[in-house]
Amino acid sequence: MTLHFIDTRGQDDSRPTFSSVIVQGLAPGGGLYLPEVWPQYSLQQLDGWRDLPYHQRAACLYKSFGIDFPEPVTDELMARIYNPDPTRPYRERWNHADIAPVVSLDDQTHLLELWHGPTSAFKDLALQCLPQFFTAVIEQRHIVTHDLNHDILILVATSGDTGSAALAGFSDRPHTNIIVFYPHGGVSEVQRRQMTARSAQNLGVFGVRGNFDDCQRAVKRAFEDESFGSWLAHEANLQFSSANSINWGRLAPQIVYYLSAVCDLRATGQLTDGQVVDVCVPTGNFGNILAAWLAKRIGAPIGRLLCASNENKILSDFIQTGIYDTRMRGFKVTTSPSMDILVSSNLERLLFLLSDATHVRAWMEQLARDGVFQVDADTLSRLQTDFVGGWVDDATTLARIKQTYDSHGYLLDPHTAVALELAERERADNPLLIAGTAHWAKFAPNVARALTGTAPEAPLPEPYESMGGFELTRAICALAPGAAPVPENLQRMEHETERFRDVIDSDAASIEDAVKSWVRARG
Ligand SMILES: *Cc1c(COP(=O)(O)O)cnc(C)c1O
Repeated sequence: MTLHFIDTRGQDDSRPTFSSVIVQGLAPGGGLYLPEVWPQYSLQQLDGWRDLPYHQRAACLYKSFGIDFPEPVTDELMARIYNPDPTRPYRERWNHADIAPVVSLDDQTHLLELWHGPTSAFKDLALQCLPQFFTAVIEQRHIVTHDLNHDILILVATSGDTGSAALAGFSDRPHTNIIVFYPHGGVSEVQRRQMTARSAQNLGVFGVRGNFDDCQRAVKRAFEDESFGSWLAHEANLQFSSANSINWGRLAPQIVYYLSAVCDLRATGQLTDGQVVDVCVPTGNFGNILAAWLAKRIGAPIGRLLCASNENKILSDFIQTGIYDTRMRGFKVTTSPSMDILVSSNLERLLFLLSDATHVRAWMEQLARDGVFQVDADTLSRLQTDFVGGWVDDATTLARIKQTYDSHGYLLDPHTAVALELAERERADNPLLIAGTAHWAKFAPNVARALTGTAPEAPLPEPYESMGGFELTRAICALAPGAAPVPENLQRMEHETERFRDVIDSDAASIEDAVKSWVRARG
């Protein structure tokens, strides 16, 4: 049965299907799409996933969400996307047969490892999927409201992990093109190389002078410039779309791994009948933790959702007070940079599901006008029934990495460390599942600080301070021999040629010029 979508601001009454909300990204009027009805899973149904490989679990979920693809198409897509064949080219490879395995630190503490994909961060789980949806939608002519002659152009502003995962996912995908903008000097060496050393013809990458916020603002302006949009349509036959986590096609794949993890925990007896697991997620844009809450909504035995922030703690303050206040907040660059975010776009979906479109419209207008909004007491109490917010500073994050390695021989990346720290602080009787969002080697300098007991902003002791990123990664392997090995996709970056070297200014005109010159060069 085909399922239809509604939007969080109640502006789109066309009841679009999965295919059209994927291509559209944002609803007209600025709202975000959500399914009109929610499937329900019983524990027996979840336990039925036990013997299924990950790709079949994913196909199952999409079918229960009423995806408007023929069943064999969904099955074939998922089998292609989540194919753990170890002989695939290293740039496309999953490094674990289970795709998203659960490992246990002890009986009550489990890590959901979401970093076995091609770019070693959890965003691969969704960004390997979304581009294939785009291609399938276009090829199946499922677009209802869009001109079928147009290929898609995605613009992405990234603080690092999204850009590399999006480029990996869109690389050589038919009918799609992607241009990524990253803050020049603001990403790690590994992250930069993961972006600039790609060679497919449908990709573009630009460094931007400025920080991530500047970069994102400029890209958003270009995206919203109608005359630029019509230039693209007429001169280049391209239509903008979005690959960021406002797209339902980014969120849905993330629900799969929470159901999958719960199924695995029940299969091993680590989660028994009558028990629920508390889930702790290192949070930036609120996409990943929202997916965990949606998994609970459709029947996964999940208890509390622990929302872990770093020093950019706007979300943790919001969950505690009901006030979302972007004013007077400096943007701090932390040791967990993929969570350095001040506007968490997916929060809007949660607010809609806790209240209604009328409230959401008013709150979002206030946010745009005044930089702040406050939810009513009922909404806050519903929010606090499920969510706990907390934040962790950089020094404590690094200390948690060291302590976890010393006591369990497990090396955490700084984002996962923020979550484990909060989980330990909030631990109650339920077992804990912590979302492990990145491989440690993506953030080598801060992991080295942790292992050598160096303060967050201090230089590393020699010889480490003078080492390049890849040499430092090898040094960490010597310091922490129990750490997960560095996968080939990261190792090989050291010797790849960086193909994209342009650096541009952080205003909309410079972004538009860059896109135009990229389009012209492509011919
Ligand atoms: C993107 C990212 C996060 C934050 O996830 P959201 O869905 O934006 O909340 C956390 N950790 C890592 C490593 C990431 O790349």
